[in-house]
Amino acid sequence: MNHLTRRRFLKAAGATGAATFAGTSFAADNSHGSNGAHIVVVGGGSGGATAAKYMKQFLPQLRVTLIEPNATYYTCYGSNWVLSGLASMDDIAHTYDSLRDNHDINIVADRVTTVDPDRRRVHLQGGDSISYDKLVMSPGIDFRYDAVDGISESDASEIPHAWKAGDQTRLLRDQLEAMPNGGVFVMVAPPNPFRCPPGPYERVSLIAHYFKEQKPRSKIIVLDAKDNFSKQGLFEEGWAQHYGDMIEWRAASDGGHVEAVDVAEKTARADSGFERVKADVMNFIPRQQAAQIAHDVGLTNDQGWVPVNQQTFKSEMDDNIYVLGDASVAGAMPKSGHSANNQGKIVAAAIVRELMDQEPLNPSSANTCYSLVTPEHGISVANVYRFIDGTQTAEGGGVSPSGASPEFRASEADYTRAWYQGITQDIWG
Ligand SMILES: Cc1cc2nc3c(=O)[nH]c(=O)nc-3n(C[C@H](O)[C@H](O)[C@H](O)COP(=O)(O)OP(=O)(O)OC[C@H]3O[C@@H](n4cnc5c(N)ncnc54)[C@H](O)[C@@H]3O)c2cc1C
Repeated sequence: MNHLTRRRFLKAAGATGAATFAGTSFAADNSHGSNGAHIVVVGGGSGGATAAKYMKQFLPQLRVTLIEPNATYYTCYGSNWVLSGLASMDDIAHTYDSLRDNHDINIVADRVTTVDPDRRRVHLQGGDSISYDKLVMSPGIDFRYDAVDGISESDASEIPHAWKAGDQTRLLRDQLEAMPNGGVFVMVAPPNPFRCPPGPYERVSLIAHYFKEQKPRSKIIVLDAKDNFSKQGLFEEGWAQHYGDMIEWRAASDGGHVEAVDVAEKTARADSGFERVKADVMNFIPRQQAAQIAHDVGLTNDQGWVPVNQQTFKSEMDDNIYVLGDASVAGAMPKSGHSANNQGKIVAAAIVRELMDQEPLNPSSANTCYSLVTPEHGISVANVYRFIDGTQTAEGGGVSPSGASPEFRASEADYTRAWYQGITQDIWG
């Protein structure tokens, strides 16, 4: 184990002050003695940007470097609003300017290709390498296309997943706009676990809203790899209320489980015995796993996710690496932006306390996932979590009531939009 002692850290931190860092110029000069603890964060999404920002808030002397290849981060939250024409791509775009200018975080626009845990050094696609005292990784997810025949990652340019926001969101929106009235939109929904459990069902809700206004003879079919889904009762109540029979959801055990996709024909074949389902626009959301870099570093388990100490989110594989967000195994906490944001704060506190030779805290954390069934009909699930008996455990929470009044649903729709403003300001503001 390589870890700064309290005396060494305090000496280092005192020598550093609130320095600013430009570019990657300190790649080679991060020896412990004079420059202070250097925390490198991989991934500037919901988890990584939060961890970087809060580490600087908890201990301003720390040097924090955030490595993220994209200059603009498009949130997946809100991307379903874009698909339905309720928001623009600009509305879900966030830059790293404030983290750099207001929070003294060194932003490196590059991709980490390898990590050398023994030398505590990350290597970048651009050729630089950067050393760290502690490494935080929040790289998100990648996809597994191997579970369904006939479709591979390269087909995403024809049949988008739109499960990472950006170009994929634009592509699916363009396809929906080009689809004729009376067309069929088919979503192939993924098996658990996956990022944002209610996300596919909010997506079909808002696409139904768009169809109802612009292409009312159209149809939506969801072929699901599961037999039930998050907030199912509330979604189905809302679909019946607003969209009649426009949305047809097929459970895995009732013909929804897709075995093969014919990309050229845009058809999906479910388990033997059921017909081929023909789409005008198909949204294939693949099975998921931790992002590739977590595999390359050797941090993943047999299921493709990163096991961590769920109190601190320190990797079980390496004492100097913390992994949070969608890539991690986090007990009952769902893979969501809200969870990743909370975990970013847990990691920030855990690292600062470790550097100060203090015991880790056991903070409560929370998750709320709002979904829009229509722009004026919001529903939510909320839970509070705490680390109990080795795992993040739900201590309490619940979902919106069924049969609530239109005023109640409208309030939750307002909370949805307010939640977005609040959390994105907390992460990138
Ligand atoms: C349609 C949809 C709707 C959603 N709605 C909600 C919602 O309403 N509420 C909610 O809480 N959550 C929602 N989510 C989930 C949320 O987007 C994710 O759970 C959250 O973003 C996870 O954060 P993360 O930090 O783990 O990963 P991400 O936010 O994906 O960030 C990962 C970052 O790591 C970077 N990266 C990857 N590899 C490397 C590398 N090798 N080097 C450097 N950088 C790298 C990526 O470029 C990316 O920016 C939704 C998701 C989807 C798809």
